Amino acid sequence: MNNTKYIFVTGGVTSSLGKGIIGASLAKLLQARGYSVTIQKLDPYINIDPGTLNPYEHGECFVTNDGAETDLDLGHYERFLNIPTSQANNVTTGRIYQSVINKERKGEFLGKTVQVIPHITDEIKHRIQILGNTGDYDIVITEIGGTVGDIESLPYIEAVRQLEWELGEHNTIVIHLTLVPYLAAAGELKTKPTQHSVKMLMQSGVSPDILVCRSEHLISDDIKRKLALFCNVKKQDVIQSIDAETIYDVPNLMFDEGLDKVVLEKLKLATDKQPKLIKWNEFLQKFKNPKSTVEIALIGKYVELHDSYKSITEAFIHAGAANEIKVIIRWIHSEELTAKNISKKLAGVNGILVAPGFGDRGTEGKIEAVQFARENNIPFFGICLGMQMAVIEFARNVLGLQKADSTEMDKDCPIPVINLMEEQKEVTKKGGTMRLGAWDCQLTKDSKVFEAYQKELISERHRHRYEYNNVYKNQLEQAGMKTAGINPKTGLVEVVEIDSHPWFVGVQYHPEYKSTVLNPHPLFVSFIKAALKQSKG
Ligand code: GLN
Repeated sequence: MNNTKYIFVTGGVTSSLGKGIIGASLAKLLQARGYSVTIQKLDPYINIDPGTLNPYEHGECFVTNDGAETDLDLGHYERFLNIPTSQANNVTTGRIYQSVINKERKGEFLGKTVQVIPHITDEIKHRIQILGNTGDYDIVITEIGGTVGDIESLPYIEAVRQLEWELGEHNTIVIHLTLVPYLAAAGELKTKPTQHSVKMLMQSGVSPDILVCRSEHLISDDIKRKLALFCNVKKQDVIQSIDAETIYDVPNLMFDEGLDKVVLEKLKLATDKQPKLIKWNEFLQKFKNPKSTVEIALIGKYVELHDSYKSITEAFIHAGAANEIKVIIRWIHSEELTAKNISKKLAGVNGILVAPGFGDRGTEGKIEAVQFARENNIPFFGICLGMQMAVIEFARNVLGLQKADSTEMDKDCPIPVINLMEEQKEVTKKGGTMRLGAWDCQLTKDSKVFEAYQKELISERHRHRYEYNNVYKNQLEQAGMKTAGINPKTGLVEVVEIDSHPWFVGVQYHPEYKSTVLNPHPLFVSFIKAALKQSKG
C-alpha cells in the first residue's frame, strides 16, 4: 500500500472547456512544489484507441514512447510536465471492455454474470490505480473525458465514487470544471448551468470538492458565494478560470487563484514549499516579447481543424520562444495547391513544413510545395508523409523518374521509392499495427540534423506504415539527396537532407511529439533559425 493521492477532474455544462489544460496546469504547479505527479485521461468512447479516428473527429493522435496511440491531451501533459507518458496514461471504454471480455473468455469470472457493476467499474478502478501502484507518484490526476450526464461516462463516475469511498478522506478529491456563461442581454454571469451539472454529479453519488469555473468575465465574490451555497462547497473552493492569452499562462493564473493550495490542503499535503516556475516563466517572457517574426507555411490536408496538428503548432511556440521569434503559421490546404497558384500561395513565407498524413488526398499539392521549397531555397521541413513526399519529389524532378510514387498512393506504382516494409505486407488489421513508438536513429555527423541534436544516436517516435525504399538509395544519394539518419537495427532511412540547399530536412519520425516548454525540439529550433536567416535575405 502506498500513499498516492488521486485527483479526479470531471467536466460539466459543455465539452471543450479545457479539462486537459486545467489538469496539466495543476500538475505543473504541484510538480513545481516538489511533488511527483502524472496525469491520465479516461476516454468514454468505444474505440480501443484514437489511432483509427479521423483527425477531423478528434484532432491529432498523440504517440507515446511505448507506441500507444493516444488522445491529444497527453501531448499537453508531456509539454507541461516535461516527463513522458505511456499507454497507462490513456484508457478508453473500448479498452476497458476488451480486457473484461478477454477475461470472461478465459474463464476468469466462471460462474458469474459479467456486469457493468462490478466488472467494468473494477477494471476502471484498476486502470486508475496502475499508475499510483508503481510507487513513482505522490499524486495521480485522472481526467474523465466527456461531460457529466453523458450516458457513456456513468461507469467512470461510479468508479470514482467507489474509489473515494475505498481510499478514504484526504486521499482523493474531485475537481469539477464548468462554464459560467455571460448573458450579454442581461449583462450577467449565470450560475444555473453549473448548479445543474453539480446536481447531476451528486445524483451519481459524487460531490465535487472544488469547482473550477471557466468564464469570459471576472467572477465576483457574490457569484462565488452563490455557487458555493448551491453546489455544496466552500467559497474558497470556487476557482475562477478566465480565458487566457495562451494556455501556458494557465499554471500562473491557477496559482493566483490558489487552486494548487486548496488541492494540497484537502489532500493533507504540505503547502509550505512555493512552486518554482523560474524556467517556465523565462519561456513565457521570451514567448511574449519576440524580437522578430517568421512566417511558416504549414501544408496539410486537415488544416480546417488546427487541433489535427496540435503538437506541431506547440513545437513552433516552444522553438519560437527559444529563438525569441514569433512564429506565424500560414495554414495551407494541400488540395488547393497547384503548379499554377503555388508561387502566389507561398509568396513571402520563410519556411515550409509539409505535414504528416494518410492516403492520397492532397499529396500532389504537397509534392508541389516540396518542389517550390527546394527550387527557391526556402527552408523545408518534411515530417513523416512530408518526408516521403520530399523523396518522391526528388525522384521525379531531379532523377527524372516521373512515375516515382509511394505504394500508399498507387499500389501498382512502377517506381515505388516509398513502399511497405515486408512485415507490413502481411498486416490486414488497421488498429495499432503501424510502426509505432520510439526507435533509435543513427545520425550522420556531417548533417543539419547532427548540428541540431549535437549527438549521433537519437530516439524519436514513429507512426507510419510505409518506408523509404532502400533500392533507390544509391541513385537518390548520388543525385544529392543525402541519407542523414538510419535506424541502426533495420537499416531503414529515417532522415534525408539536401546539402546544396540552405535547410532541407525530411524526417520519417515525428519530432513534434517530443517538444516541451522546457525542452524545445532541436529540429524545430534549427528550422526556425533557418527561417529567420531566410527572412533577412
Ligand atoms: N501515410 C504514411 C505512412 O503510413 C505517413 C504517415 C504519417 O505521416 N504519420 O507511412
